[in-house]
Amino acid sequence: MSGGLDVLAVVSEIYPLIKTGGLADVAGALPGALAERDVRVRTLVPGYPVMTKGLRKPETVLSLPALFGGPARVLAARKGGLDLFLLDAPHLFARPGGPYADAAGRDWPDNGRRFAALARAAASLAQGVAPGYTPDVVHVHDWQAGLVPAYLAYDALPRPPSVMTVHNLAFQGRFPASLFAELGLPATALSVDGVEYFDGVGFLKAGIRHADRITTVSPTYAAEICTPEWGMGLDGLLRGRADMLSGILNGIDVNVWDPAADTCLEAAYDAHDVGRRALNKAALRSRFELEDDPKAFVVGVISRLTWQKGLDLLLAALPTALAQGAQFAILGTGDRGLEAGWLEAARAHPGRVGCVIGYEEPLAHLIQGGADCIAIPSRFEPCGLTQLCGLRYGAIPLVARVGGLADTVVDASPMALAAGSATGVQFAPTTVTALQAALRRVAALYRDPAAWRRMQANGMAADVSWREPARLYAELFRGLKPASGGARP
Ligand code: ADP
Repeated sequence: MSGGLDVLAVVSEIYPLIKTGGLADVAGALPGALAERDVRVRTLVPGYPVMTKGLRKPETVLSLPALFGGPARVLAARKGGLDLFLLDAPHLFARPGGPYADAAGRDWPDNGRRFAALARAAASLAQGVAPGYTPDVVHVHDWQAGLVPAYLAYDALPRPPSVMTVHNLAFQGRFPASLFAELGLPATALSVDGVEYFDGVGFLKAGIRHADRITTVSPTYAAEICTPEWGMGLDGLLRGRADMLSGILNGIDVNVWDPAADTCLEAAYDAHDVGRRALNKAALRSRFELEDDPKAFVVGVISRLTWQKGLDLLLAALPTALAQGAQFAILGTGDRGLEAGWLEAARAHPGRVGCVIGYEEPLAHLIQGGADCIAIPSRFEPCGLTQLCGLRYGAIPLVARVGGLADTVVDASPMALAAGSATGVQFAPTTVTALQAALRRVAALYRDPAAWRRMQANGMAADVSWREPARLYAELFRGLKPASGGARP
């Protein structure tokens, strides 16, 4: 394939319209970056109320009179700067709450049916049943779209090649075997070579098994998920398909994350006047009620508070860090136990530890623009976006050497410092002891202003945009052979 390419993307959330995590950022940013490479992306998303509200003259491109228990349509619309197909299926998506759970955080009991419907509609679009639309490639994201490659494989119809991107192997879309009867797949599909997974149906497994190519969001994570330690039950399948698997890093939207034009900051700045970060640090301290101690360095955290993110380890390393002169500004939400732990730390160390429980994008920007260091001590991290923002904002990343964190931060080893190429501090393994040692290294580097400024300048000069990732996705899409269609053995 050469020249312009049409890609049908399938995803369950997309920035700026609906977001629960980094998946939405990726789905929202890739189409614009790919457009510059002559790749036109149209994205199929569920018709949540926020998506279907206020549509002006939506065009119905496909009617599906009986889709998993009710009538549905696929609408073509332009919204949020994106070319979308919306799966308007009120019985599945017209309800309050989030994309996967109700307002109280309970998963919708019919999630299997909801996202099987999304996949069924996507596969039909990919097969060209909507007049005038035949995509060259289907790009599906995470378990919510995992059944698309399976439908394409088992339908005996011409089809485009498919690419499955895994953003986090921890979320697998496992459902009871009883769902299988509703899927409309042949009986042979309920096998270890099909969609069966640990005696049930596995949506992510189905995608990994049937997609023509599999990508994940960093080269190191692509290697990690082929191991029993991080393969989360899918490592055997992934090892078997390793020649189809590759890692492409995520980028960030450098217009949304631009310290020179960021209205959430007290003072905008660029690489030439990083001294202005002091004004943001002062604002940050005031917001988190931290002492104005000229010797102290501020460690920021912006994170889901979960086991994956390793913030229990940071809590355990707190006494060491405080003894090294660190202050903490923590923004996050998640596990009740971790929230309580950090709130307690803030009570125990007034003026040294500040904690905001919640999801606040403007405050995330202020932390990036004012903290000296941004800590990401994850046990595993497919790519990670926070460290990319940290690099761009001159907040030195302190990261576990896993997944995308290992691929995007240049550790301040003696060699890298001598070569002037360091951008942050890495530690391994992800343990309290290794984290304590890393915090001591950060403190020592902070006391060496020339080394610190050099690291900031290196990070701010790094290309964390979507330019290179989009080039790699475009290359991958163009390299795919048209698929032959029809059921596989
Ligand atoms: P994940 O998707 O695993 O949560 P990523 O690093 O890939 O982690 O993406 C998380 C994104 O969400 C980052 O842009 C981060 O700044 C943002 N974020 C996470 N928690 C919060 C919060 N409490 N408030 C504001 N932004 C947050």
